[in-house]
Amino acid sequence: MKTIFAGSLHPLGIHRVLEPIGAMPQAAWKLNAEPICAENEILCDVEVLNIDSASFTQMRDVCENDPARIGEHIAATVRQRGKQHNAVTGSGGMFIGRVAEVGSRLRDRLALQVGDRIASLVSLTLTPLRIDAVERVDVATGRVWIRGQAVLFETGLWAQLPADIDENVALAVLDVAGAPAQTQRLCKPGQTVVVIGAAGKSGLLTCAHAKARVGAAGRVIGIAHDASTSGAQLLRDAQLVDALVSADARDALAVAQAVETLAPQLADVTINCVNVPGTELSSILCTKDEGIVYFFSMATSFTAAALGAEGVGRDVTMIVGNGYCKNHAQIALQTLRDHPQLRAYFESKYATPV
Ligand code: NAP
Repeated sequence: MKTIFAGSLHPLGIHRVLEPIGAMPQAAWKLNAEPICAENEILCDVEVLNIDSASFTQMRDVCENDPARIGEHIAATVRQRGKQHNAVTGSGGMFIGRVAEVGSRLRDRLALQVGDRIASLVSLTLTPLRIDAVERVDVATGRVWIRGQAVLFETGLWAQLPADIDENVALAVLDVAGAPAQTQRLCKPGQTVVVIGAAGKSGLLTCAHAKARVGAAGRVIGIAHDASTSGAQLLRDAQLVDALVSADARDALAVAQAVETLAPQLADVTINCVNVPGTELSSILCTKDEGIVYFFSMATSFTAAALGAEGVGRDVTMIVGNGYCKNHAQIALQTLRDHPQLRAYFESKYATPV
C-alpha cells in the first residue's frame, strides 16, 4: 500500500503527528486524519461520538446550548486539529463505529473483522478523526452522531460492543470505565468513602462499587449538586449511598462541613466525579490525613490540587484519574448487569433513540 506518512509507522501513532513534529499524538496540536489505513492501524467508520463531560459542558456554555453551534464547534476543532481535542479543557471522549479496514500487520493478531462494531477506549484527543457531517447533537447527554472516519493505532484500546447492552448505554458507561474499576482497587472494607458528583454517570457507577467494597461496616457519602435529580433519586432508591448531601462542590467549606457532620473522622477515600473546575479543595478538605483523593474529573487542576493540599496542610495521596485500568471495560459493563435499577436508569437516559 502506498504510504502517506513521512517516517516509519509507529505503534503509538507518532507517524500521524503533523504539529509539532516529535510530539506524541495526545500532546500534538495537529494530527494527520487522512482516512487511509496504514499497515499497523484500524480504520473505522464513525457513527457516534461521546464527548467527555467536562469538554461538552464547556462547549455547551460557549455555544449557549445551541446544538447546531455545538456541532459546528466540534466540526471546526476536528478540521483544525485532525482530532476532537478541546483546547480549553484538554479532554476528548470516545466513539462507536464500524471497522472499515484492518491493517495488514494486524489482521492475524486481532480478533477483529471488517464490519465489526466497536467502541474506542482511547481518548479522542489522540484519535485521528475526519468528520464529513455532523448529523445530530444531543445536548442532554453529550452524544454527537456524525458521518466520518477515525483511526486506531496499533496500541489503541477498543472493545467489541456487548450483545446484551444497548450500544449507546455501553458507550456512556465505557467512556467513564476507569472510575468504577479504580474504585474497586482503592476502597477497602469498613472505610468511609465520599463521592463528589455522585449523581452523574461516573459518580453512580463509582457509588455502586464503593458501596460493595466498603460493606456493611463502611459508609458511602454522595455529594450531588441537586438532590432532586433522577440520578440523586436513584442513589437513594437503589441504596448506592448511605447518605446523600446536596452541595455545590466548588464551596469547599460547605462540603467539608457536611462531610464532617456525617463522618467526624472524614473520608478514607474521596472520589471526584464532577465536570466543572474549582472542586479540588472540597475533595481535599473532606479527606482525612493520609487518606486518598482520586481525581477522576477532567476539570481538575494539578496546581490547584497540589497547592491547595499544601495550603491547608493536609497529607493526602492524590491520584490522577487514569482513564485506563486493567479490565475496566468489563468491570464497568458488569456493573449494569449486577444492578438492575442502575441499568434501567442508564437505559432511560442513554439508550438508542427509536
Ligand atoms: P456527568 O455524567 O456529566 O456527571 C457530572 C456530575 O457532576 C453531574 O452529576 C453534575 O451534577 C455534577 N456537578 C457539576 N457541577 C457540580 C457542582 N458544582 N457541585 C456538585 N456537583 C456538580 O459526567 P461524567 O461523564 O460522569 O464525567 C465526570 C468527570 O469525569 C468529568 O470531568 C469528565 O470529564 C471526567 N472523565 C474522566 C475520564 C478519565 O479518564 N479520567 C474519562 C471520562 C470522563 P449536575 O448535572 O446536577 O450539575
